[in-house]
Amino acid sequence: MRVWHPRYARDLQRLHLAQRLIAHRARTQVISDWTGLSVVQVRSLYRQFGKELDEGGAARLRGPGPSSLPQLLSSKRWRTGFIGLCYVLEAMPHMPIQNPKRELHTLTRGERLCRAFEIYSTLMPGRSMNFHQALLLYTAVAMGQEVHAVKCETCGAVIVRDVLGIGRWNCGHCYRADTTEMRFATHGDVRKGHGRPQCTE
Ligand SMILES: [Zn+2]
Repeated sequence: MRVWHPRYARDLQRLHLAQRLIAHRARTQVISDWTGLSVVQVRSLYRQFGKELDEGGAARLRGPGPSSLPQLLSSKRWRTGFIGLCYVLEAMPHMPIQNPKRELHTLTRGERLCRAFEIYSTLMPGRSMNFHQALLLYTAVAMGQEVHAVKCETCGAVIVRDVLGIGRWNCGHCYRADTTEMRFATHGDVRKGHGRPQCTE
């Protein structure tokens, strides 16, 4: 009997993605959307793997945290980092989408999204968005109606900005550098009309 078949490989891929999403504490409906498993199947997996996670002391999501786009975009560090990784790992669709359920959810893209979130969380332990917030931002950028991804005007890093936003937009790193420089200029010996500190030798 031939056991190995593309269909089995796909079922395995589906299960592995579901396990990964459960580890990120994704909601049942989200896992169902991304894997194609039924809500009943996801709940059953959650009972099985969720218990193992609890026993392993996996961190649960705590506190309300930002749950809307404006709240997420108000943080410079959250506007930077995760979405750039999604582009590098090809988790983001090439064109804006209209209907996430129909156009966004594929197993491969789900795996790449998980990978981006895992790298992001490793790089920013304790300071990163949780998976729900990351998914909210990711979906909004993929749709491109309220926010889109642009490059930092100073260093070229990918940041997220409001589609109606005006003025210069920098990533958190360049913003901090600008602020530090401005603080130094304000308190230092600066010639009138110059934005940068001058050498006094
Ligand atoms: Zn920058």
